[in-house]
Amino acid sequence: MAKKKQADKPPEEFEDIKWCDKCREWKAASEFYKRYPQRYYRTCKACAKVEDDIYHAKQTQKNRSLTENELFAGDKWCPVCMKTKDKHSFPRQSSSTAGLYRSCRPCCKAYYDANKEKIAARAKLYREANKDEKKKLDATYYIKNKEKVKARVKKYAADNKEMISKKGKAYRGANKEKIKAYQKAYYEANKEKASAYQKAWGEANKEKIAANKKAYRKANRKKILAKQKKYREANKEKAKIYRESNKERLAANQKVWYDTNKERINNERRKKRLISQTG
Ligand SMILES: [Zn+2]
Ligand SMILES: [Zn+2]
Repeated sequence: MAKKKQADKPPEEFEDIKWCDKCREWKAASEFYKRYPQRYYRTCKACAKVEDDIYHAKQTQKNRSLTENELFAGDKWCPVCMKTKDKHSFPRQSSSTAGLYRSCRPCCKAYYDANKEKIAARAKLYREANKDEKKKLDATYYIKNKEKVKARVKKYAADNKEMISKKGKAYRGANKEKIKAYQKAYYEANKEKASAYQKAWGEANKEKIAANKKAYRKANRKKILAKQKKYREANKEKAKIYRESNKERLAANQKVWYDTNKERINNERRKKRLISQTG
């Protein structure tokens, strides 16, 4: 099909009609963004969006391949406070030319604080309008770039270890109650799953758990003994009552224990005697 030519211009009386250089069609002037009060962009809004999307996708790809050092090298001018600042003073924005926001952090924050509701409303509107599209895009992107995404997440985690752990700690500190409530709700909703999982984990890690317990007891002997002593002292009366009311059963148990361990006990006694005689 031959490309439509600008020569097919509509008659003079249609004043508010403009030519789009991209889709090569005559369109209503309201379909074009204005560059200056008297001048329109050479492409219509729809074509401008396509061009914009392509441009930002290219920038995103370029900026994401940069290392932190490359991205933050040098200074940048903020058009809002009109100051030149270290690039670390600018938030990241992968889709932009420099990979950073136009304005510096304090200026971004001031703008955000002054326009909070407007920004939130716009973002919500955008999210809702692009929900399905975004899901589809994310899914196809992930399927096509699985390894790349995984590598990027891993690299980001490694590059920002300290920052992430600090952030996590701060968040956990500030949201203790919230986290507890969430965990409790999750546990309640997944009780059976959780207990089955715990049981399976315990079965699979029996030796590891036993070793851990042993190591803990070895490392904390004094603490454990002190705790036991404290417990015994606090429950002296209770223990006495228990011993008296279970006298016969306890004696029988002791006898069974002695009979099954007789040899070992006698050996140990002999050993002790020998040591005290020679020592
Ligand atoms: Zn167009
Ligand atoms: Zn600024």
